[in-house]
Amino acid sequence: MRPNGLAYACVLVGAIAALAHTGAGARAPVTVLVEDELGSGDRALRGAGELGASASEPLDGRAGLPAEQSADVAPPPAPASAQSELAPPRERPPEVAPAAPPRRSYRYRSRNRYPGPIPTPEEWAPPEGPVRIGLQAGHWRADEAPAELSGLRDNGTSWGNTPEWRANLAIAERAGAMLEELGYVVDILPAVVPPSYRAHLFVSIHADGSGDPAASGYRVAPPRRDATGRARLIAELLEGSYGEVTGLRRLPTVTRRMSNYYAFNFRRYEHALHPMTIGVILETGFLTSSRDREIIVSDPDRAARGIVQAVTQFPVTRLLTAQDGG
Ligand SMILES: [Zn+2]
Repeated sequence: MRPNGLAYACVLVGAIAALAHTGAGARAPVTVLVEDELGSGDRALRGAGELGASASEPLDGRAGLPAEQSADVAPPPAPASAQSELAPPRERPPEVAPAAPPRRSYRYRSRNRYPGPIPTPEEWAPPEGPVRIGLQAGHWRADEAPAELSGLRDNGTSWGNTPEWRANLAIAERAGAMLEELGYVVDILPAVVPPSYRAHLFVSIHADGSGDPAASGYRVAPPRRDATGRARLIAELLEGSYGEVTGLRRLPTVTRRMSNYYAFNFRRYEHALHPMTIGVILETGFLTSSRDREIIVSDPDRAARGIVQAVTQFPVTRLLTAQDGG
């Protein structure tokens, strides 16, 4: 992927704005400097939760609606070509002007894309069949993104000639090979997940980027809204195992772009997890940190082992051994 000049500029503007906001001499929080996981170059999507928050906006949502609202009631405007499929005329507010609407005019409520009632954690049931793990290589093949995820097409961080997706894919493939060796069924998934994707566990693999070469560390987040009730546990296991195996430090802060990750948002996107698929997102480290690159670029096997260990410890995906089975 080519470097995104606009995204980089947005990051700089965001960093300056954050410095101004926190006062002279105050250190900008690392969270302000991280990559825009989604849609930094797509102005039409601004303010629309995980696809719309650009890197120039404070991550706490001060610039727009609180995350809780924007994630639900502010869908990105559908492109004209897709509008007829996405929003039937009866649900379209008549007052929306086609040209240059005021910024708030597209904050109408769209229909929930998920057709059925959303199950509760008590109703959670694993899929049929062998234990299936989906490992997503973040940003991989993002240029194939459909209109609903057009903000994905040109983002992700990079280091030199290494785009983020390449580091993510190397880790995903190695973790996948290790898991298959253990008897799991593994899907290595690109940025666009299959509609209503079902698996016992979905792990999205990413890397952070920063203008500050000292920014370093990994972080893990479950979905902000988790219909399975189980994502918190795998996130905690992954926090522990990834740090233990890689020796990288864990950043306690997670971004809205992580917890509102598009693949978790089955209410808004067709290409998202099934509500009963347990999901977690891992930022494996900073591609812009020489220390983190020693793991995530130079030793992807180690990063992969950190993921595999959590999968094998998680009760939902732990395989029964002869010993366990009696
Ligand atoms: Zn990423």
